[in-house]
Amino acid sequence: MQDLKAKLDQVRQQQRYRRCRSLQRNGVVCRAEDGRELLAFCSNDYLGLAQHPQVSAALQRGAAEYGVGSGAAHLINGHSPAHQALEEELAAYLGRPRALLFSTGYMANLAVISSLLGRGDWLLQDRLNHASLLDGAQLSRARLKRYAHVDLADLQRRLGEIGSGELMLATDGVFSMDGDLAPLPQLQQLCQQHQAWLLLDDAHGFGVLGSGRGTPAHFGLALEDNLIQMVTLGKALGTFGAAVAGSEDLIESLIQQARPYIFTTATPPALAEASRAALRLLAAEDWRREHLQRLIRRFRQGAQQLDLPLLDSPTPIQPLLLGSEERALSWSQALEQMGILVTAIRPPTVPPGSARLRITLSAAHSPEQLDRLLDALAVVSRQQKA
Ligand SMILES: *Cc1c(COP(=O)(O)O)cnc(C)c1O
Repeated sequence: MQDLKAKLDQVRQQQRYRRCRSLQRNGVVCRAEDGRELLAFCSNDYLGLAQHPQVSAALQRGAAEYGVGSGAAHLINGHSPAHQALEEELAAYLGRPRALLFSTGYMANLAVISSLLGRGDWLLQDRLNHASLLDGAQLSRARLKRYAHVDLADLQRRLGEIGSGELMLATDGVFSMDGDLAPLPQLQQLCQQHQAWLLLDDAHGFGVLGSGRGTPAHFGLALEDNLIQMVTLGKALGTFGAAVAGSEDLIESLIQQARPYIFTTATPPALAEASRAALRLLAAEDWRREHLQRLIRRFRQGAQQLDLPLLDSPTPIQPLLLGSEERALSWSQALEQMGILVTAIRPPTVPPGSARLRITLSAAHSPEQLDRLLDALAVVSRQQKA
């Protein structure tokens, strides 16, 4: 039996110890354990829909109609008219023949990869892909090759090393910790040349880019049968769960084969009703995306003037690259003393030496709140230099 205490001490010494805090979120303001109010810039509620009254009301109506638990997996008798309607509405919105609901994005990625690939098949992944895509590779037992982040030359090299078998390229659409975009038109072209699946994890693109439809719409990609778009419902949509959108045959295959779909209880139908209400808002209210874009521009201008270590991101994910764990923690703590909450992101979530503050913006932030963040960053960056 391993010595857990010694291991935990080691994590502590590396400044990588994680603590789960209890925070009461009220829009962009969080009440901390000690009652203090913190202005938060770290949630993925990019459009400010998570606490929208229409979404909460839909959840309550759904609970009144369906109760709480779905009672069973989708293929037994857990699939309700609410789930069915949400799948149809998501498919229509994303412009695909079908969509299939999953309990989480994590499970959806496991499901797609392990259903379409097996031992002897090939999987190419960007080095900065989300952990769930990497775990999906393990579950599938396919041979995994990781290419340097958004590096098409390195990808081409790896493609040259691939033998016979099914081939899939999996990538985040918007990279979750860097905020930059995958070069999707080029990736799609390579996938066509090699008759490969393109699994696009659009957790951070859906709702935000392409007038809400995500990175495929942002790039004007042809929605061909090899393109699989995975969207999560817990980020810009503000609810919970995930969906995979693609061809009729793809969805039918997932229903037959995907163990993270088959062997788990369907999410509550009331949640599907909440997601339907949120999808209507997400689709209709362009002002949320427009306001968010203005905040992104304002933040980047301000951060550039302060000479902060900004990454080249056009999305609401605006990380400040700080390097060491100590440095990321000390910036985060200094901000918190000024009433601003931005959690430090450390390895293994990001590669060693690239600890950061992952600042995220939301349509729920006002320009004045954004300026409070910039003012606090100005103070902290002076403090930390001194
Ligand atoms: C959040 C996230 C997921 C997982 O989605 P959940 O619904 O939270 O399980 C998958 N991929 C990326 C890129 C993510 O950021």
